[in-house]
Amino acid sequence: MKKKTIHASVHRDPNEIVFHLVGLKDVRILSYTRRGPVGELEIEQRIERFVCPSCQGRAYVKERPVTTLTDLPFGGTPMRVRWKKHRLVCRNEACARGSFTLGDHRLAAVGVRLTTRAAKWATKQVGTGRTVNEVAKELRCSWDVVARALRRYGTALLEADTQRLKDTTALGLDETSS
Ligand SMILES: [Zn+2]
Repeated sequence: MKKKTIHASVHRDPNEIVFHLVGLKDVRILSYTRRGPVGELEIEQRIERFVCPSCQGRAYVKERPVTTLTDLPFGGTPMRVRWKKHRLVCRNEACARGSFTLGDHRLAAVGVRLTTRAAKWATKQVGTGRTVNEVAKELRCSWDVVARALRRYGTALLEADTQRLKDTTALGLDETSS
């Protein structure tokens, strides 16, 4: 019989523990704020060098705009992520890039106000028959935020699992018509 080896990594440094609990790739956690019932993590991307994607020259920080995202609840607490972004500028006069904002689709897709992991979770929930309203309530965000994430992530998921979705759609119709 083949035994599956489970890899275990132990962390004792508090910063490392927080980093692993939060579980977002390549980010630095700047602060945690409890705002009423909602927990709020302030994060920024860990970036070694600011590089212009057009000329590969050095880029400079111009602004730090903040994007607020709804994340998955943690320990029963609804969570939000305040992503302090890097808006950079290329000062190379021969380069047409100008300014640009760094993103990371592993954190959140452009135009989506849910973290990628929350958006994927929400899409699965709706795919198994929950309403957008229920999912929005659980995440403590608006209907529109979930609906927009579904439009971005839903298509791929729907295509990957057409039959199951056909079944759940039929089930959903039965439920509303009775
Ligand atoms: Zn440039």
